[in-house]
Amino acid sequence: MQAMVLRNIGAALEWTELPDRHPGPGEIRVKVAACGVCRTDLHVVDGELPDPKTPIIPGHEIVGRVDAVGSGVEGLRVGERVGIPWLGHTCGVCPFCTGGHENLCDRPLFNGYTRDGGFATATIADARFAFPLGEAGSDVALAPLLCAGLIGWRSLAIAGDGKRLGLYGFGAAAHIVAQVALWQERSVFAFTQPGDVANQTFARRLGATWAGGSDEMPPEQLDAAIIFATVGDLVPMALKAVRKGGSVVCAGIHMSDIPGLPYRLLWEERRLVSVANLTRQDGLDFLRLAPEIGIVTSTTCYPLDQANQALADLRAGRFEGAAVLVP
Ligand SMILES: [Zn+2]
Ligand SMILES: [Zn+2]
Repeated sequence: MQAMVLRNIGAALEWTELPDRHPGPGEIRVKVAACGVCRTDLHVVDGELPDPKTPIIPGHEIVGRVDAVGSGVEGLRVGERVGIPWLGHTCGVCPFCTGGHENLCDRPLFNGYTRDGGFATATIADARFAFPLGEAGSDVALAPLLCAGLIGWRSLAIAGDGKRLGLYGFGAAAHIVAQVALWQERSVFAFTQPGDVANQTFARRLGATWAGGSDEMPPEQLDAAIIFATVGDLVPMALKAVRKGGSVVCAGIHMSDIPGLPYRLLWEERRLVSVANLTRQDGLDFLRLAPEIGIVTSTTCYPLDQANQALADLRAGRFEGAAVLVP
């Protein structure tokens, strides 16, 4: 197999020839057909997340086909198309796992961070954490659903039922969650970097009621806002934009420091909360609904060996929607 490997934090990924691996008990080997590139991959490369495995193969929005099955695997067979998300393994016995919050497991493994992921021609996954994807939709179009879509979905649920939804940072996750929110008959208010006319136009084209810079106030008070951008300065801006009792949800795994803010921004039962990881139930719920919603992902494809370019373009915001690597 071949992979783009991160040997040292902060270094470029290196095209590497590796011996084929065989799935152990409970594992599957998947021939990768597409792997999305997520902001979290940048955080791994940049060393913004604690204790990554190194060397590591990044990538956690994997679509591929099972090509070998380890002992004891139930419900998956060779040839079946599966999706492999960020959550790669949980302990199953900690209070979070047994209490229905496996996203907060005390001893988890994450694909592309603490176990090898999908920037490769093949990957080994814990079979219990792979989602059958069926045959509808292309591999490339489905890849961004595996993290951007899933985290957006969980964030939307935690944001509550409010009709007027603000999305701060209009990239891969927001362009998917906007479609879900519109399908749920909500109005979407999109906030981009000030002056990013291209992304504001993209948001309006997808059906946003309003699009503007993150330094602007929306034309109406919001019921809730989700912050996908990694900028802590947006927290007070978003709190200012939501109504009494409204929620601000921070969806990223990493954010720059949140500046001091006057208490009156939080006062009147506004809620500020973060979203961490996903549960398998989130994945099942979202992937079942995605075809019904008719989510169309906007993707830019790169050959696998151009992963460094894809990461650089993501960092610079040089494409709409999501980048996807194709081996
Ligand atoms: Zn656990
Ligand atoms: Zn991700």
